[in-house]
Amino acid sequence: MLCIASVALLWHNILCLKYCRKGIVLAVPELISLEDARELVLAHVEAMDVEEVGILDMIGRVAAEDLKSDIDIAPFAHSAMDGFAVRALQVEGAAPDSPVELDVIAEVPAGAWYGGEIGDGECVRIMTGAPLPEAADAVVKYEIVDVVSGDGREGSRVAFAKPATAGDNIRSAGEEAKAGEVIVHAGEVVHSAGIGFLAGCGVTRCKTHRRPTVAIIATGSELVEPTEVPTQGKIRNSNSYALAACAVDAGAVPTVLPISPDDFEGLRAAVVAATADYDFVVTSGGAANGDYDFIKKVVDDAGELLMSTVNMRPGKAQTFGIVNGTPVFGLPGNPAAAYLGFEMIVRPALRKMQGYSHFERPTVKARLTELQKKKDPRRIFNRATLSKDDAGYLVTPAKNQSSGLFGPIQKANCFVVLPEGEARTYEVGEFVDCVLLDIPEEVLL
Ligand code: AMP
Ligand code: MG
Repeated sequence: MLCIASVALLWHNILCLKYCRKGIVLAVPELISLEDARELVLAHVEAMDVEEVGILDMIGRVAAEDLKSDIDIAPFAHSAMDGFAVRALQVEGAAPDSPVELDVIAEVPAGAWYGGEIGDGECVRIMTGAPLPEAADAVVKYEIVDVVSGDGREGSRVAFAKPATAGDNIRSAGEEAKAGEVIVHAGEVVHSAGIGFLAGCGVTRCKTHRRPTVAIIATGSELVEPTEVPTQGKIRNSNSYALAACAVDAGAVPTVLPISPDDFEGLRAAVVAATADYDFVVTSGGAANGDYDFIKKVVDDAGELLMSTVNMRPGKAQTFGIVNGTPVFGLPGNPAAAYLGFEMIVRPALRKMQGYSHFERPTVKARLTELQKKKDPRRIFNRATLSKDDAGYLVTPAKNQSSGLFGPIQKANCFVVLPEGEARTYEVGEFVDCVLLDIPEEVLL
């Protein structure tokens, strides 16, 4: 039964061949799921080679080696408070009506060291970060110590009205790491606090996967650069800049290449040249089956075409293949469709190339504030804004869901996901999944 179904599905996929060039029919499955598309692309990229960078260049990047501390952290037991170092036994039984008085015999500021004895009737004034004298086992903060005579510094006498417990206000040696211990494991994303941790452990340089370089090519005879005022029939190339921004956001290094007109040979030459110079090539436009849509044919002609359409909206036409050993991704021309394709499929690939292991943005469930008519059986991604009330998340889809617009995405903070299936209306108050665009994949909500 299962076997018959699988064969039927495979047959259906192979038969869904929408175009032909020089009489060659391309056997690429049509309308694969977003998950399959992502898996396919991820399967064709590998982690980049490793480079060594200064730790400040590690922010948000993945460690490609285990990093070890060269010393114990903390290197020595020290005081967590400004106060008085004592042995807890000395102030045992201390109470407001029977305080214990001690002489202050020395002072230890941070950076100094007191190696002497502390007699029964004695204590040492100590500052935060200063090494705990070996003869002491607790620090009593000076706010709860009364000065009996003097100014509380060396030569004074002070009174303790409360007992202390050994270990009070002390940070022990090796509390966070031992010398030689791995403090950041290979595969871990290093955040700002991690940079501080590394610095404290003597790690100033670190191996990480190189950032992939990404060529960005807009294709369309109607396109002019943003520096130009478009004449009749022309529009500005906005995609290349959004996609370059998305690439930066994904940790990659983009280069916006010249616009390629709708011409098979021209686009082929531009793509092939880019595959020699960059780690990943992204095009936008010309990915469907129109008379002037050439990216599928270019990838098929110059390399191996592996994907042509994905069951999502906007952005059904998503081309992927390998040319000269380099991944080439042909995004659709409509801005929202190109953006979504990048976010959902290209970004995971660029992240895998940098050693990341999480590829899905976090999702939350939210109540719709407006009804949503789903007219298309594909999985729909509607630009929307998430907010919160006492009962949880609310989501308001943008009024204009045209795939030709960047503006609603700029104003949005999530995509509402309406799953594949029959046309239906999602009512006000109904829960829908929302993909959060600004939250890193590592954050699980
Ligand atoms: P296409 O996928 O080439 O059929 O283009 C679909 C729509 O997206 C058309 O209205 C194009 O003019 C528009 N478009 C294509 N490329 C770009 C681009 N680089 N920037 C902005 N809009 C574009
Ligand atoms: Mg076009």
